[in-house]
Amino acid sequence: MRTLLQALNDANASKQALGHFNISEIAALNAIVDVARETHLPAIVGLSEGERKFFGARQAAAVVHSIREESGLELYLDADHTHTLQSAEEAARSGYELIVFDASEKPFEENVSLTKKVVEAAKSIRPEILIEGEIGFIGSGSQLHETPQATVVLTSPEEARQFAEATRVDLLSPAVGTMHGMLPGMLRGEVHKHLDIPRIAEISKATQLYLTLHGGSGTADDDFVRSIEAGIRIIHVNTELRIAWRRGLEAAFAANAKEFVPYTLLARARSQIADVVRNRLRLFSRS
Ligand SMILES: [Zn+2]
Repeated sequence: MRTLLQALNDANASKQALGHFNISEIAALNAIVDVARETHLPAIVGLSEGERKFFGARQAAAVVHSIREESGLELYLDADHTHTLQSAEEAARSGYELIVFDASEKPFEENVSLTKKVVEAAKSIRPEILIEGEIGFIGSGSQLHETPQATVVLTSPEEARQFAEATRVDLLSPAVGTMHGMLPGMLRGEVHKHLDIPRIAEISKATQLYLTLHGGSGTADDDFVRSIEAGIRIIHVNTELRIAWRRGLEAAFAANAKEFVPYTLLARARSQIADVVRNRLRLFSRS
């Protein structure tokens, strides 16, 4: 299996992006595994601090590692939206390949100094680990928002360059038009998120880093494709999976009101999540 860095280098050479999918529990993980088996495409499995708390940071890593050993599938593990040095160190010790360190709500200077500390500490535990830094603010919570988040601040190429230089991060997530979560109209496919493509290209050039797009759910397909051409190498999808999980369960309950076997009910969630993962992975790799 390639290292995550090798997979990113290959994606860069062929102008593709790796799909990043969040999980809270095993049905969603199994859905990602189903699609990885079927498509032979690599995927990043992400758990934010809340998701790690529910699954167990080390337990999720143990499950992903055991699937990988048995199947040879290219599944990489990301400690998504990690807010403290302590939880970054825990992820590095637990065998995560990537840490998204997120101090983007702090003032720029503080974000730089905290991120720099995490880069040094995590790499001293696990030298090959990759660290992603976050600048700009795209709202919090992979959930349904009634109105657009007013606090979204787009990243300038110059601050991205300064941040990359000062922190020595391996990847960077700039704010370029997405937000975490979705709006009701996006669920119905009536509105989509749109990205600032020239800004992505400028940030990519200014930093010479691989860029990550957070809050991918609800983005127009064409914007995804153009963002990948401009330098996006990892795309996060979470809310769409959570909605598929919920809809799958609702359909399972509706189909048989008396059913109470968890694996029977959750099978529906698993297949609906797999549909989202398959569509996104195919689009991101254009295969
Ligand atoms: Zn995110």
